[in-house]
Parts: sequence; C-alpha cells; structure tokens
Amino acid sequence: MLAGRHRALAEIDLEAIRHNVRRLRRGLPAGAVHCAVVKANGYGHGAVPAACAALEAGSTWLGVAAVAEAEELRAAGLAAPILIFGPMTGAELEAAVVAGADVVVWSASFLAAAQQLGARVHVKFDSGMGRLGVTEQEARVLCAGAAQDGLLVGLMSHFATADEADTAFFEYQLERFAALAGELGALYPGLLCHAANSAATLRAPRAHFGMIRTGIAMYGLAPGNDDPFKDDLRPAMKVCSYVAGVREVAPGESVGYGRRFVADAPTRIGIVPIGYADGVRRLLTNCGDVLVAGRRCRISGTISMDQLTVRLPDDWGGPGDEVVLFGAAGDGVDGRPGESWTAASGPRRDAAGAPRILCEEVARLLQTINYEVVCDVAPRVVRRYRGAGPAA
Ligand SMILES: *Cc1c(COP(=O)(O)O)cnc(C)c1O
Repeated sequence: MLAGRHRALAEIDLEAIRHNVRRLRRGLPAGAVHCAVVKANGYGHGAVPAACAALEAGSTWLGVAAVAEAEELRAAGLAAPILIFGPMTGAELEAAVVAGADVVVWSASFLAAAQQLGARVHVKFDSGMGRLGVTEQEARVLCAGAAQDGLLVGLMSHFATADEADTAFFEYQLERFAALAGELGALYPGLLCHAANSAATLRAPRAHFGMIRTGIAMYGLAPGNDDPFKDDLRPAMKVCSYVAGVREVAPGESVGYGRRFVADAPTRIGIVPIGYADGVRRLLTNCGDVLVAGRRCRISGTISMDQLTVRLPDDWGGPGDEVVLFGAAGDGVDGRPGESWTAASGPRRDAAGAPRILCEEVARLLQTINYEVVCDVAPRVVRRYRGAGPAA
C-alpha cells in the first residue's frame, strides 16, 4: 500500500494551460480576444479549473457545447461571457438565458425563440463544415432580425479541415467567411466575427478575426495529432497509476483474461490498478506502452476494467513505482523524483528532456485523435491540480 497516492490519477498542470493560452494569444490582431473552449469537462481536464487558468492568462470568453456546462461555470462564480455552441431544446434555451450565456442561431424558428427570451445570439454561417449553419443569404436575414432587437453579438463559422495538410478547402472556407464578415461587420459595427479553432489559429493569422476559439491547443495537445512541442505547446495532462503488485511468471504461464500474454521466459509482471473503466482503452492490450519509473514497458495481457498488467524492466524500482499512461515521468510529483531518468536504458525523451509518452502516440495506436484520449479519462480518475494561480 502506498500512502498519499491515488490508484489512478490525472494530474493537470494549470501553468501549462496558462502558458498555452499566452502562446495562442500572441499574434492576435489588436483588440481580438480569446475564447477558451472548456466543453466536455475541459476536454477531461476539469472545466472550472481550466477556465480559471485560461482567464488568468488573458482569455475573456468561455466556450461550451451544452447549457449544463455553462451552468457549471456560473455555479463556480465565473462571470466571463459564455458562448454555448450546440443545439438546444426550448427548455435548454431558457436555462441558457438564466445562466446569462450567448447562444448560436442557425434557423429562423430558433431565432424567434431566442428573441422571445432576449437571448444574445451569434449567427452561424456554414462556410463548408456541412453540419450546422446557414447560407450567406440566410445569415444576412438572421443578423438583421437579431440586430433589430439588439440581440446580435456575433457571426461565426467553423473549419472542417484546418488540421489537414491540403489547405485548399480551408482557404475556400476562410475566403467565404472573410467576405461575409467584411460585409456584415460593416453593416453592424462591433459585430464579433469568429471562426478559428486551434488548428486554424496556429496555421493562419488571417483566420483570427475578432476572436479565436481554441480547445485542444490550450490543453497542450497538437491539433493535427502530431507533435505539440513544435508549436511551443505544453501538454497539461498526465495520467498515471502505480505498481501495486508483482508477479513472477514462469515460461508457459499466462497473465489475465483470455491468456493473451503467455511468457516465453521467466517474466516479471507488474499489476497496475487502472483499466478500461478509467479510460485506458482495451485496444491497447499487448500493444500500448507505459513508463514504469521512467522506463518504457509494454502493456502485457488483456486490459481489464480496473487493472492492467505490464512486463517490468529488469531495473525497475520496486512496488509503488510510478506508471505513466501518458505524460512525463517523474517530476517528483508522486515521490520518487525522477531518480531513474538517467538510466542508460532510458526511454525516449521529449523536448523538455523527460521520458514521456505523448497523448498523440496513444491516439495513433488507437487510430483516433488526442481529443478522444483525454475525453475518455473517466470521472473516477482523480484530478489533481498543480500550478494554481493567484487566489481569485
Ligand atoms: C470544440 C469547438 C472548438 C474548439 O476546437 P479545437 O480544435 O479543440 O480548438 C471551436 N469552435 C467550436 C464551434 C467547437 O465546437
């Protein structure tokens, strides 16, 4: 048993979030603002702590997908303007108004409901995402209607391919949005035009307009699921557990459900109390790596609901060794301050010199993207925060 450590921990570095926000805000045109996207519990990082860190670093807006998310921010005492991106039922619209949140409009009927309640609106133009949003002509009509009641705040759009190597469709969307923003911005002084997500923000300053809305990059993750360090982003989340038990397995013996790992030589297996119910996808069975006390090891045997097993290196430290699912090893956070990092057999190091598994690497193994990996971290994984800013 280990004192003072949780079985499974998501450690969130708030200073990393502040750094990323400052990095994203650098290069914004004068007067342009940053909307910190904290939907989905701040991409798993905790919506309220992530929002607070972003506001400390200069963000002025908060973006969420659902009205309950806006209510959570208000309940925590956050007074910044909030924009709710997603579709809403009538009851949700009422709740949004009570929460003092702005809403997105893409139909005449929803605008009418918003007008009835006095909701502040952002009109969504579909420049090519092919999901929600209206044509240029419909956007003109919706803006005129909202402006008549003094409820028009913004004109927005969303990019479908800002993270892809081929920029042609991105440029097409950007051009369409720029034209409409120019036209309606001239008609409605102060109209807040915004389209850029993280990928567009990093790729094209021309896409910044009056506000950027960034989620993934704010958490230090690469929008293209490649390398966050190339854009000077710092990953904010680390997910770890520890070696809770050890088992010496003889040749021919197996480990775990389905006997998916069978030792071909005497093997030392570590039992780690984190599993798929914590968000470690079962697909990583026999193919994902973890860092045990800073050394890269293979997950060996079926990942079960609450546990996984890993083949320990010869020079492991002992029961209680930190096991990192993604993030940097050590750092003194859970005791054992990085003492084994210098081993000649050490794993790959990241730009900061620490053994690290990138969230992006895990995502590639799972044939998905980093967004999904952090959103998968389950509620029962305890969130612990470092780098708390000045008390509010
Ligand atoms: C989620 C979302 C964003 C943020 O996207 P990232 O790629 O995480 O930066 C921006 N705008 C809208 C409308 C969104 O739904």
